[in-house]
This record gives sequence, structure tokens and C-alpha cells, in this order.
Amino acid sequence: MSIPSAATAAFLEAYATEPAGLWAAPGRVNLIGEHTDYNDGFVLPFALPQRTVAAAGPAPDGRWSVCSTLAPDPVSFGVTTPGDVTGWGAYVAGVVWALKDAGFEVPPARIAIASDVPLGSGLSSSAALESAVLTALVDLGGLDVALERRPAIAQRAENVYVGAPTGILDQSASIRCQEGRALFLDCRTYQVEQIPFDLTAEGLAILVINSNAPHRHVDGEYGERRKSCEAAAATLGVAALRDVSTDSLPQALERLDDDVMRRRARHIVTENQRVLDTVSLLRSGRVREIGPLLTASHASMRDDFEITVDQVDVAVEASLAAGAYGARMTGGGFGGCVLALVDAERADATAAAVDAAYRKRDFTAPTSWVATAGPGAARL
Ligand code: ADP
Ligand code: MG
Repeated sequence: MSIPSAATAAFLEAYATEPAGLWAAPGRVNLIGEHTDYNDGFVLPFALPQRTVAAAGPAPDGRWSVCSTLAPDPVSFGVTTPGDVTGWGAYVAGVVWALKDAGFEVPPARIAIASDVPLGSGLSSSAALESAVLTALVDLGGLDVALERRPAIAQRAENVYVGAPTGILDQSASIRCQEGRALFLDCRTYQVEQIPFDLTAEGLAILVINSNAPHRHVDGEYGERRKSCEAAAATLGVAALRDVSTDSLPQALERLDDDVMRRRARHIVTENQRVLDTVSLLRSGRVREIGPLLTASHASMRDDFEITVDQVDVAVEASLAAGAYGARMTGGGFGGCVLALVDAERADATAAAVDAAYRKRDFTAPTSWVATAGPGAARL
């Protein structure tokens, strides 16, 4: 069954009536720019074809109800504040709360969710869920919420209501990405530029490899990285590490006396520059040449930011050995996915090479697919 049909079926099953409409929001991969978002820096995600669909309609009881193919019993709530709804329903209650808190009259609604975005794999199923729900509620209520404002509202749902201290990357990607483009986002100003990213014309492909590695301590490690970055910025007397240029990096590093903090800062500063360099190359159609930047980004995450695990390192090494132009982990780290830039005709062979490397190491088998840049959140 297709994802839209599954959402409709779940809606019918839970509420015994037809939904008023279907709204979809995609998962994303970040081409480059990892952990830069909460440092006021640059990111370059594109939307995946995998998406979360919300079937939604008005609620005669004046409340909000939501179910998912993964959790068929509807969660129902009235007006809430953070902490009232827990579990997966918090992502939805969070969106209702954040919209209300931003001054909007949120229409009571019944919602059913279906998705093919893998959960907890760094492809941002949480932002896809928030963005699908937000887009549905905005349309159902005829709310005048500018596209530019929507990511920050969805982010507040996740930060304040769910309690996950994530940056603006995921929700921006799910809401603002366009088909055939990568989204160059300045996380300080929220300015975006749509960068042409149609690899088919070049005979290239992005192979996404889900390491299927068990996630470990993700929240604690994430918080610890954030603290290091903030402490480094404070020591350097800048608002955020975004304000340190690669030219001034050597002097900046001399002023940090903690070796861990030095390496964390070096990752952020060099990663921001790699995003800018990648964007310049893509703007002039030199797609193959971004490969070394992707690989350098991985080395920086592995050695300086220390957020990779064996499974993702092995996937990167095996992809490069199989002839990829570049490869890197994508997402917050400690598992999740790797992306490799390959000749389209080498995608299967690259995936097979990663499979073989995993077998040799007795890792759980990875899952790989070719990803093209899909559309952002919209009514279907
Ligand atoms: P990621 O965003 O990387 O996939 P997160 O831990 O941030 O991982 O978000 C995953 C959580 O989002 C799930 O544990 C669940 O609570 C919620 N979620 C996402 N998609 C769905 C869905 N289709 N149905 C129910 N809950 C979902
Ligand atoms: Mg998430």
C-alpha cells in the first residue's frame, strides 16, 4: 500500500470517516554541514523521496486526536502545555502548542500518520512528522503562517515540548526544500538559496547507506557537543563559532586551552567553509569536485568532533575503495546514515562493496538506496 493510502486507511479505521485531505513532509539528508546549525552556521540538506503523510480533518469534539500506523490507538488532547503529552504524541501536541504560542488559532483536528521515513536513522522522521502536521493544521485552519516562519515553529515543538535540543536544520529541510535542489541555509539569518542538485543529468547518484547501527547515548553526546561549542565561542568572545573564519582559526585555536574544545571548534569552523565551498562548486556545475569536501567532512567528524562509530567509518571507507568521489556520515552521528557520491552506474556495486565490508566485520547488514532530491512539505 502506498503511504498516502496507508494514512487514509488509518484515518478511516480510527475515526470512521474520510479525511479532509492529505499533507506530506519529507525526511532529509544533509549533503554537508554537520552540527553547524546550532553554531549559527551553514547547512546544505536535500529532501528525500521518503515522506510522512498526515491524513487530517476537522474534529467535532473541539480536541486534537492523532494516531499512526505505528501506534494505531489515537492519542487525544485539548489545550496543553509542554509536559502534558508524552511519547510520540508529544511531537504533534508540540506543534499545536507552538502554533498557538505564536498567536495562531489552531483548528481542532483528527490526524492519522503513515510514513516510510526510517525512524531514528538520522533522516529526520521527527521533523517530517512535525512538518506534515504543521502544514495540515495551517491549511485546515486557513492560517496565515509564512513559509519562512514555519521551521522555527516546528523546531520549538521539538525543543520545548518534546525536549530535544535540536537546531533548525531538520525542520527547514522538510518544509523549505524543493525538488531537484539542495537547500543552502544560513542558520543565523534563515536566508535560503535553492541550489541546483540534479545528479541524473551528470550521470551521478547519491547512494544513502543506512548503517543500521544501534544508536548510543545520542542525546547526551549531542548536548555535550553543543556545550563545547558554546564554551569555545564564549572564550573567543564571539556570539557563535560561525563568527570565526578559517583565516583566523589558527589564532583562535591558540586561545583555547582545552584540547577537546579546540578540536570541536576546528570541526565547526572548517565545516562551515566546506559548505560554502560545496555551494560554490554546485553553483558552477562542478558536481564531481565536491567529493573531496564530503570525505574531508567525514574525517573532521571522525577525528575532531568524534561523532562517528565503526559502522559509518567502514561504510565510508568501503564506498571510497569502490570508487566513490566522496563519502561522509550524514545526520547527528553515533550511527545513522552515510552518503556517497558515485557514478550512477556504480551505485549497486558500491552498495555491494559496503555489504561485503559489513559481513567481514560481523555488523548488522546495512540498507542502501539511491536518493534524489524530492519536494518539501505540501498538500497532496
Ligand atoms: P529521527 O528524527 O532521526 O528519525 P528522532 O529520535 O528525532 O529520530 O525521532 C524519532 C521519533 O519521532 C520516534 O521515536 C517517534 O516518537 C516519532 N515519530 C517519527 N515518525 C513517526 C511515525 N510515523 N509515527 C509515530 N511516531 C513517529
Ligand atoms: Mg529527529
